[in-house]
Amino acid sequence: MINEEARALGAAPNKIRETFAYGLKRKAEIGENNVFDLSIGNPSVPSPDCVDETIARLATESKGTMHGYTPSPGLPDVREAIAQNLNKRFNQNYSGDNLYITSGASSSIAITMKAIMQPGEEVIAPSPYFMEYRTWAQDAGCSVVEVPVRPDDFQMDVPAMEAAMNEKTAAVIINSPNNPVGSIYSKQNIADLADAMRRKSEEFGHPIYLLSDEPYRELYYYEDEKPAWVPDLYDNTIVLYSWSKSMSLPGERIAYILVPQSVENWHDVYDAVCGGGRLLGYICAGTMFQQVVKECIDAPVNKEPYDINRKIFMEGLDKIGYTYIKPQGAFYMFIKALEPDANAFVERCKAHDLLLVASDGFGITGWVRAGYCCSKETIEGALGKFQEVWDEYHK
Ligand code: PLP
Repeated sequence: MINEEARALGAAPNKIRETFAYGLKRKAEIGENNVFDLSIGNPSVPSPDCVDETIARLATESKGTMHGYTPSPGLPDVREAIAQNLNKRFNQNYSGDNLYITSGASSSIAITMKAIMQPGEEVIAPSPYFMEYRTWAQDAGCSVVEVPVRPDDFQMDVPAMEAAMNEKTAAVIINSPNNPVGSIYSKQNIADLADAMRRKSEEFGHPIYLLSDEPYRELYYYEDEKPAWVPDLYDNTIVLYSWSKSMSLPGERIAYILVPQSVENWHDVYDAVCGGGRLLGYICAGTMFQQVVKECIDAPVNKEPYDINRKIFMEGLDKIGYTYIKPQGAFYMFIKALEPDANAFVERCKAHDLLLVASDGFGITGWVRAGYCCSKETIEGALGKFQEVWDEYHK
């Protein structure tokens, strides 16, 4: 008999992927340039040249011998290179032993939740948040407790998060720069959360882990709002990183989990991560892309095209009159829907071939997410559609 939980998950479409699939179909019908698909976070900036150059070189040099398994946590020299890169950038003292290479932040999160949570426990997420957290928590037999961010500045509401912590709280998961809002939690905001978590860990007699999901770490637009290095603020932090966005490699599935030495009993936590990977059937991350990220680890992240789109988008929305959250990072614009039901608003936009995602799945109602990881022309065309929709609502 099939597993009902799995069937239900498989049958219930993920709204983002469903809209993306619709967009592809619609483009085939009416032409690529007539559909303004802002639904998915697929980076539009090409990967650094180093990526293709390394693939070509590896393919030539290896003559078919590079496709074998690697050790489960990843190739030792690749892990060491990642550690050295982090040490240089964040003034740390990590080694390859702190790192477990994975197939995307998705697997980093799923593995870590499996590793550090017992069935029946809870993970707190400031909402809005990345919707798949619920699925991975569910697989670990756990649930996500949503705590809305402050409505005025979309920073974490630390007193409310502290009030939500109880003896079943295994972890808090944060994502900054944030999908879907584009906000960055300030250093002070994270430090306040860390204080609250220390208080509650002590009260309940076990560590509450802080999972820092940060695939957008390098995508910030104001130097003075650069994302803080979270393990500096809270010892029991586990970092979940991915090159999906920074190196535009989402289809190649390459990422890592960092368990710093500051984590209590970090060797055990690291072993649990390895076991979590094993339980979930992750044998090792793709061999070729482990080597690619090693070779390209210092390649600069090109965020300028996103910043250009961001500015054009904000200016256009201002002119029309939409309310939105000014993005500090990532590549999403969080826009207030023109009616309380964001799904109804999304449908109205869809009729204009403007494809957006309603905020409901992210744990908040009344907003939509629009990815500006697309061409400048797509943003310019989309603004024309936003105007048409605005006019329709205001006639
Ligand atoms: N976490 C957040 C906040 C994301 O936005 C995404 C992808 O969009 C992921 C995790 C998953 O990333 P990956 O493609 O590396 O699995």
